[in-house]
Amino acid sequence: MQAKYANVIIDIVHSDLDKTFQYKIPEYLLEKIQLGMEVVVPFGKSNRLIKGYVIMITDKPEFEITKIKEIYEINYNSLLIESKQIQLAGWIKENYGSTMIQSLKTVIPIKQKVKSKEKKIVILILQEELAKEKLELFKNKHYTAKARLLEALLKDTTVSYEVIVKKLKIAQSVIKSFEQENMIRIETESFYRNPVKKIVKQEKSVALNTDQSGVVEGIWKDYTKGIRNTYLIHGVTGSGKTEVYMELIQRVIQEGKQAIVLIPEISLTFQTVTRFYQRFGDRVSIMNSRLSAGEKYDQMMRARNNDIDIMIGPRSALFTPFQNLGLIIIDEEHESSYKSESMPRYHARETAIQWAKMLHASVVLGSATPSIDSYYRANTGEYVLYQLSSRVQKRELSKVYTIDLREELREGNRSILSMKLQELIEEKLQKQQQIMLFINRRGFAGFISCRSCGHVMKCPHCDVSLTVHNNGQLVCHYCGYQEKEVSKCPNCGSPYIGGFKAGTQKIESIVKSRYPNARILRMDMDTTKTKEGHERILKAFANHEADILIGTQMIVKGHDFPNVTLVGILAADLSLHTADYRASEKTFQLLTQAAGRAGRGEEKGEVVIQTYTPDHYSIVAAAKQDYKDFYQQEILFRSLMSYPPAANMMVIMITSLKYEMAQNCADILKTEIEQIIQEKKEKEQSGNMQIIQVIGPADAVIAKVNDRYQKVIYIKAEQYDELIHIKDRLENIVELQEQKKSVNI
Ligand code: ADP
Ligand code: ZN
Ligand code: ZN
Repeated sequence: MQAKYANVIIDIVHSDLDKTFQYKIPEYLLEKIQLGMEVVVPFGKSNRLIKGYVIMITDKPEFEITKIKEIYEINYNSLLIESKQIQLAGWIKENYGSTMIQSLKTVIPIKQKVKSKEKKIVILILQEELAKEKLELFKNKHYTAKARLLEALLKDTTVSYEVIVKKLKIAQSVIKSFEQENMIRIETESFYRNPVKKIVKQEKSVALNTDQSGVVEGIWKDYTKGIRNTYLIHGVTGSGKTEVYMELIQRVIQEGKQAIVLIPEISLTFQTVTRFYQRFGDRVSIMNSRLSAGEKYDQMMRARNNDIDIMIGPRSALFTPFQNLGLIIIDEEHESSYKSESMPRYHARETAIQWAKMLHASVVLGSATPSIDSYYRANTGEYVLYQLSSRVQKRELSKVYTIDLREELREGNRSILSMKLQELIEEKLQKQQQIMLFINRRGFAGFISCRSCGHVMKCPHCDVSLTVHNNGQLVCHYCGYQEKEVSKCPNCGSPYIGGFKAGTQKIESIVKSRYPNARILRMDMDTTKTKEGHERILKAFANHEADILIGTQMIVKGHDFPNVTLVGILAADLSLHTADYRASEKTFQLLTQAAGRAGRGEEKGEVVIQTYTPDHYSIVAAAKQDYKDFYQQEILFRSLMSYPPAANMMVIMITSLKYEMAQNCADILKTEIEQIIQEKKEKEQSGNMQIIQVIGPADAVIAKVNDRYQKVIYIKAEQYDELIHIKDRLENIVELQEQKKSVNI
């Protein structure tokens, strides 16, 4: 039998994880050892026995065999959360094709070398009236430093020590004298410890309605029977999903367990967080991207030490090391931000379901527009489906007008604003109601369409839009198919065929010149470079400091503007014809969300959807706000074309500074893949093997990033295992190619 080795990591919390030590697995342990297990190993020159975790099992010795020490023993009771997390990291590595180190770094937050800073704050404790008197006194006596400090404290009762010393330039002795006179208190605290400290816990205020109770009791019945499932709550916005989550969390906590709540960062607003604090007090913690690594680590430690019961946060909050996790909630489960765009490219929903399986916890997904993937799984019985179909405060749905831009053109209106939209904007401005104009640009949309008949240039093989390239070619980003750019519409012969160009800036100037008296705000990448910029604009609009808000998808998420009665979607097609098989799904979601922004207050809302393809099913369904109708058509398309979730798809991306190298390597890999498939076919002979399609290589949608050319190969297979098999076989070849050709795969 071939010898096997275990790569062991020692002391996860303090190690920087890059260092693993290899040990030989004694024969009698071969059958028993597993990834993530705690082991005892001899360490260092003295061979003292210490604990470690197995993070890899391999038959490749890393150094001279005779020098490799043996594992001393396995701790079979190693139920520590770290050991489970290592197993999860292994699962991520296997399913998303990263290295073990990359996965581990994601799953187990590492203690940063820089300790998280403790922050000293100065709190005014003197009564306000007295403080004001004192201020007068200081001013009269020309104690300018003292006056400055007191003024600052009167404005904001807590001020950071650092600000006082560095910004206000006040000597420490002055601060000290304030302290001695009992005017202030100095505290050392990390502001993240309890970021919303001032919120007081309130008694439970709402009683669930029958729809909501139905969902809660259904899920809870399973839970008490020991059944753990994945549940999908399809509930329109405002149907009371958050209340359902909170009730479930409360029950889980009463059982002595903990809960993780994932919310897309963009929806992680003060409003949402406040609701959780009001209900659960300081047993809640939040994570967001503004926390430093050290602060994040501290939050994780609070969870591990049982100081909190609930962690709320985006994707990465999933890896909160609760000792007794009972429930994972994923709100807005369709959001693309749940998929990591860097290594490891895990999907938080899939990973949450795996994690819940390992820990015997339940998963609750919620959305008004579920991902096709989740809805499909709910339909096949993999998830359990619940519906919340009416709003808590019975508010009417908005009235939707679909405007055919081809008609507008025929009638001589070449403006980006249709006649109907212009008419409604005027009406709302007169009534002093607010308007949102939405342009659904999703990153890169270089498609070509005909303004006369709406025809879109598509790949004949993949049924996704072709993208214009600089060299005048139309290219498919799945299979690499190319054709010459056209000057006439192949469908109707019209010369009005080309790319669609309209940015938020251009729209702003058009709207400004047409409605010179309207106050306009614009929200896009340029105006929101900082996180504060984003919030500032939304706040200003909420305070009715502007009449019209123009923006990209940023404006449709999260916020509630009760005075908005009109939403205009300027070109619904922009997100419909991206080079992505999920383009229709994303369009439907965006349109539905945008439409949902109108009519949140007393007045009924109106929505104008402008499009060149008014008959496209995603636009028809969005106008009716009919999710099921959309789903039925979309799933048909996915099945016909073997796109997920009807099949599984793997993408291999090859990047290099030199185009030829990327190209060359992609070709080699494609040959290898075909070879692997061929071998498998021969082995299985009987012909019951599933069809596997290899597509490409093609230039990636974004063909060049940071000077690196990007090529992609897609593989579609009915069985997920087939893809994993190909991936595992490829990994060795990949390593070789990477060394030889200075490519990244
Ligand atoms: P969703 O998460 O589906 O958008 P929420 O849970 O935020 O819905 O509920 C929408 C609004 O209705 C909130 O202001 C919430 O406090 C209120 N609400 C929810 N459930 C009830 C209920 N059973 N009774 C009264 N108000 C409720
Ligand atoms: Zn045409
Ligand atoms: Zn194609």
